[in-house]
Amino acid sequence: MNFKYVIIGGSAGGIGAIESIRDIDKAGSIAVISDETIPQYSKPMISEYIGEGAKLEEIIFRPLRFWEEHSVNIFSDKKVAKVDVSAKTVMLENGESIGFEKLLIATGGKPIIPKIDGAERKGVFTFVNLADAKLLLGRLQNVKEAVVVGGGLIGVSLAEALLKLRKKVTIVELKDRILNLILDMEGASMVADAVEHAGVKIITGRSVTRIAGRILSEKQVGGVVLDDGTKMSCDIVVLTIGVTPRIEVIDPRQIKVNRVVVVDRFMATSAQDIYACGDVAETFDFVNNDFRLLPLWPLAYVGGRIAGSNMAGDKVGYPGGTQMCSLNYFGIPVISIGVVNPPKESGYEVLAKLNPESRTYRKIILQNDVIVGMILVGGIVNAGVILDLMKNRIPIGEFKENLLSEEFGLIHLAEPLRLEMLRRN
Ligand SMILES: Cc1cc2nc3c(=O)[nH]c(=O)nc-3n(C[C@H](O)[C@H](O)[C@H](O)COP(=O)(O)OP(=O)(O)OC[C@H]3O[C@@H](n4cnc5c(N)ncnc54)[C@H](O)[C@@H]3O)c2cc1C
Repeated sequence: MNFKYVIIGGSAGGIGAIESIRDIDKAGSIAVISDETIPQYSKPMISEYIGEGAKLEEIIFRPLRFWEEHSVNIFSDKKVAKVDVSAKTVMLENGESIGFEKLLIATGGKPIIPKIDGAERKGVFTFVNLADAKLLLGRLQNVKEAVVVGGGLIGVSLAEALLKLRKKVTIVELKDRILNLILDMEGASMVADAVEHAGVKIITGRSVTRIAGRILSEKQVGGVVLDDGTKMSCDIVVLTIGVTPRIEVIDPRQIKVNRVVVVDRFMATSAQDIYACGDVAETFDFVNNDFRLLPLWPLAYVGGRIAGSNMAGDKVGYPGGTQMCSLNYFGIPVISIGVVNPPKESGYEVLAKLNPESRTYRKIILQNDVIVGMILVGGIVNAGVILDLMKNRIPIGEFKENLLSEEFGLIHLAEPLRLEMLRRN
């Protein structure tokens, strides 16, 4: 079997690529191979599938007819075992081989499983895809207490979902704060207050060293033991300490890998006619001016769009993305973009204001008078204006003192800049 375009993974990256290919090439044959049965749902929404009882139709990113409408041969529930660069084929686990002219690797990430004594017990889960969510949901009925290991994006979103189902939830986080990759201490404390106020217990600076069994059923989870010896009872443990790129289909002697797949601005790998995007590949970071792993849904989709254009013959470079999160867990709005925890004594200028009355926190990070990062907690109005200034590297000299005002907006900009911005948006 041969196809002009073969795509491994039918999620954000794969879908972006298909849409671009079909904008340019209406007839070229496309095959998508996914080890999921329905790959085109929104991964960030699997917590809603759990906590709000959302149906599959409500968390779907593209309708079920998407494949047919885009004349895509979808090989679902099929796993790629290897990519053979010289033969230009992908080998499936069932022994089938599929030939390609152009290949996209959009295999995303898989959960990191920490080495914890007792992690094989029944009641230990991961939470990175719909299959995980279904498995967890199927087991929740008799669960009273849950321990979520890891207080990052996935852990906090899952904690909120479990709380909505009236479970008693504890987050155990190794670092000194939750959401440590996207927030600083002040921002994280405000979110932690909201999380704890809602009823979730947070333990920071500790790790789970053992998952204990139940007294009358050793194989079932009965509790956890922390590194300081603290014991806690629970019925389930969910491991959410992070994801690692799924590079196992690649031979690093044939395709350059630096923890993730190395790509250029056209999402091309080191191997001819092979592209990569999303959580398995590097993305150009326009703030740091380098390539790095930025495991975010919108960036995976745009990376796919860029890859698809180039695969179909339109040479399009990726303008770049950066760390960018907009959250509203436990009712507290948060925006975090770019450099948010700059190294000390490194030429960054930090403006920050905590307003206990309005329960808001603003932090803007500057480098050479240009915004390179921001954290907004509690109040996020006009974040778009700051982002526009950041993306377009506008020197902020004259309106610097206004940046920390909760009312900061277009009104504070000089007229020519204001008009330019209005034209852009
Ligand atoms: C619970 C959760 C919450 C999140 N919240 C946010 C958020 O708030 N904001 C945000 O921006 N991002 C969030 N993310 C991250 C976001 O979902 C990812 O960045 C995005 O899904 C990456 O898209 P992708 O296409 O690169 O890979 P994925 O979405 O991981 O898709 C890869 C696909 O390839 C398949 N695959 C992998 N290997 C093979 C193989 N060998 N053979 C066949 N198929 C294979 C996988 O099964 C999967 O279907 C969240 C993720 C999770 C899990």
